[in-house]
Amino acid sequence: MSSIYDLHSHSTASDGALSPSELVQKASEAGVKVLALTDHDTLAGLAEARRAARQCGLTLIDGVELSVTWQDQCFHIVGLNVNAHHEPLRQGIEHLQTIRVERAREMARCLAKRNIPGAYEAVVKMAGGGMITRTHFARYLVGQGYAKDVRSVFERFLVKGKPGYVPTQWAELEAAIGWIESAGGVAVLAHPLRYKLTGNKMRRLLAAFREAGGRGIEIVWGNSSAQDIQTCAAYARQFELAGSVGSDFHSPENSWLRLGRLAPLPSAIKPVWALWPDEGRGRLCSA
Ligand code: AMP
Ligand code: MN
Ligand code: MN
Ligand code: MN
Repeated sequence: MSSIYDLHSHSTASDGALSPSELVQKASEAGVKVLALTDHDTLAGLAEARRAARQCGLTLIDGVELSVTWQDQCFHIVGLNVNAHHEPLRQGIEHLQTIRVERAREMARCLAKRNIPGAYEAVVKMAGGGMITRTHFARYLVGQGYAKDVRSVFERFLVKGKPGYVPTQWAELEAAIGWIESAGGVAVLAHPLRYKLTGNKMRRLLAAFREAGGRGIEIVWGNSSAQDIQTCAAYARQFELAGSVGSDFHSPENSWLRLGRLAPLPSAIKPVWALWPDEGRGRLCSA
């Protein structure tokens, strides 16, 4: 199972383990021909990724993964093939970055109250100027011996109701979709089954998403089952959304989640890249 398209991935510009150029190199080695870099709330890795992509003949799609709050829950909207210089998109992202810094400070304060000091300074250092995410807190806590691995640290400290969790008001769904679509991109609902919604709530979300101008939904991801693919394909058909495929790759340490190792989109589904000029090569290697 491999795909020449991988339209969801992370670098050190947010919580990925590889630099943008290392990521592009690895993707190319894995047989990916069209890669979207979609870091959390930042476009900062794109320039480096684009230079690396030119060198290895890979098509880089400028992307981003925006954090939104809809009905008191956090969702991720991937923007694909965006114009990274579009001012409303840049301003929206800047706002999200401010929210991220404030949240990180607050998370560190909450952990300090539980006798876990020094988290803010540590995650700032770890992020190296990139976005600070819960993944960075997880790495810090594991490093300090508070849990054995990232997965258990999330369960014990970083999910709703746990000491390091800070409820956050991210961007409005409608606004985030607007920034992406007005930047010439395609707004895609990321990993739709990870939110654990009832069918009813998922349909309300997709109706709101569609109403706001969203045009795509992820159907195939790193470890989606045949059943997951069918479920999401049915949502795509019902809401007339194009389908996307993306590993959501973060690190080579996650051996179960590799770049480009993706099942094909069901043939009845229109792929998101069919929405781009010249099959996504319209903005290839733009300056
Ligand atoms: P944030 O956007 O700062 O809330 O961080 C979210 C990121 O944390 C996601 O993109 C994942 O990379 C990671 N993450 C979320 N939940 C888990 C989990 N249960 N185990 C491991 N990583 C997770
Ligand atoms: Mn992440
Ligand atoms: Mn996500
Ligand atoms: Mn992601």
